[in-house]
Amino acid sequence: MSDQLPELIDPVVFAERQSHLQGHLSLQRLERLADILFDKDGGLKVDLQFYKEGKVPVIVGLIEGHITLICQSCLGALAWTVDKPVKIGMVQTIEQADRLVDGFEPLMVSDQKLSLPGLVEDEVLISLPDFPRHEHKCLQYEPALKIAEPKTIKQESDNPFSVLATLKNTGDQ
Ligand SMILES: [Zn+2]
Repeated sequence: MSDQLPELIDPVVFAERQSHLQGHLSLQRLERLADILFDKDGGLKVDLQFYKEGKVPVIVGLIEGHITLICQSCLGALAWTVDKPVKIGMVQTIEQADRLVDGFEPLMVSDQKLSLPGLVEDEVLISLPDFPRHEHKCLQYEPALKIAEPKTIKQESDNPFSVLATLKNTGDQ
């Protein structure tokens, strides 16, 4: 699939025209997301329908794809499936946001055009866990804290004044 999706869109005009955006977005175009990826190759499948729900311009669709995150335990590659439904209501004021039909998340729009990769990126980022990690025990060793703890306590009980003694000796020299 080619990378034919536009960079900037006017979501309100798209909604009035009932535009349908469908395509492949390269991960290279998603800089903030790429920052937390183990592997920046590949892309996401984007399928967004713009229309009006009553008077409110909305975006409804799905972002799908396979990405590789960095496991926060072992820092290795962590295969991740993106499957993020999109349900956005475009608003210009807080009052409009409060009146949105259930299930629609508000998106503040102005006269300026909207970055499509930015929108996709935001949707994917909020769907990811704060600390992605392998489900299995991926570390080869126990966390350092568990090993170090008893050792430190033992040393202290053996000779609680060893630190003071060292300091005293240094001071004498
Ligand atoms: Zn891991």
